[in-house]
Amino acid sequence: MEFDYLTLDDFQLRDKTILLRLDINAPLDPASNQILDDGRILAAKPTLDSLLQGRVVVLSHQSRPGRGDFTSMQQHALVLQKNCSQRVSFVEDVMGPTARQAIRDIRNGEVLVLDNVRLCSEENLEDSGEKLAKTNLVKRLAPLFDLYVNDAFATAHRAQASLVGFPYLLPSAAGKLMEAELGAIKQLMQNPARPSTYILGGAKVEDKVPVIENILATKAADNVLVGGNVAKIFLKASEHKLGESDERELGDVTDEVLKANRILSKYRRRIVLPSDFGMESDGGRVEVELNALSRGGRALDIGPKSAADFSGIIERSKTVVASGPMGVFEQDGFETGTKVILETMAKSNAFTVIGGGHLAGYAGILHIADRLTHVSTAGGAMLSMLAGEELPAITALIASAKRFGKK
Ligand code: ADP
Ligand code: MG
Repeated sequence: MEFDYLTLDDFQLRDKTILLRLDINAPLDPASNQILDDGRILAAKPTLDSLLQGRVVVLSHQSRPGRGDFTSMQQHALVLQKNCSQRVSFVEDVMGPTARQAIRDIRNGEVLVLDNVRLCSEENLEDSGEKLAKTNLVKRLAPLFDLYVNDAFATAHRAQASLVGFPYLLPSAAGKLMEAELGAIKQLMQNPARPSTYILGGAKVEDKVPVIENILATKAADNVLVGGNVAKIFLKASEHKLGESDERELGDVTDEVLKANRILSKYRRRIVLPSDFGMESDGGRVEVELNALSRGGRALDIGPKSAADFSGIIERSKTVVASGPMGVFEQDGFETGTKVILETMAKSNAFTVIGGGHLAGYAGILHIADRLTHVSTAGGAMLSMLAGEELPAITALIASAKRFGKK
């Protein structure tokens, strides 16, 4: 992965009309559609502060067509207004004449929020920048701007028009959040302080197993500790028997188990599996050893011995990355493993990074997010990078830097 994109420091921003792609997609209350967590909206503040001398037009999405939380961006604009220094207005249009007139009318020091970009069906396609530069969305909006700024790291693994089409036609820069996110990942991948330990858990095993393979192959990780359902995949691959309900809940994981098998055959000594588990029993928790898993019940957390072993390894590490919880932290009694890991990371002086919606959300609940070096706003995009994949939106920024240079 290359990192030679331009940043806001490379551009003269005064009097410029700037198209700012954010990812301020927020979880909404299903009953009222009110924003439940405005973390991603607040994370736009450093970039907005850097653009005070220009005219800023924000383009973002909320959910996707067909979902109950596919709403307009009006509420997001109100939260932005409360949290940034500029005057913020909202227009209920994305690329039509009303939006274009509003863009022409804004002044230096103002922010205009356009409506949900996914209202335009063209945004829901994925293709090359060259192709998507020909969409109506890009053709109608691009001529109104001097500069495109991408601060939407959490969506950077998508090749959609608002992410790859605009940088094909406009000089482009990474925003401050994008810079921070990419800077942390660059450090992890190219120059980690050692030993470097990764802790992977959670339920989305198909996202996590490829990461494990890549970080071991590239030597970004010295140790990999597994919890959650990721641990269950590695246990299956090492021929341990799970209980019936765990097996049933995992579903068809043949591909992941095959990959885990391949990983274990090459890197067995660098992978640490849990040796005990918190098992659900009559609605409560009992601690069981690894060899008792097959007797049934659901293994919903790593056990105390594993949590202590994992903590010991974290304490001896200089780089610690965690994605996905160790257990079903949402259920009383099964948060312990995840809590111990996060608190040990918070106490450590190592370079500590966490990512993944669930794990980052829980770190927020524990109020320890600011004691970690970096909390990623993204799950999928960070994991794709750690799995060694290129992110289309970043590739587009790099190509734009080569094509247009600094301005
Ligand atoms: P993240 O968003 O942090 O990347 P995932 O989305 O992959 O994490 O997984 C989060 C979910 O994993 C949580 O809802 C949690 O309840 C579930 N989970 C964690 N450990 C287990 C487990 N041992 N068994 C079943 N589900 C688990
Ligand atoms: Mg998740």
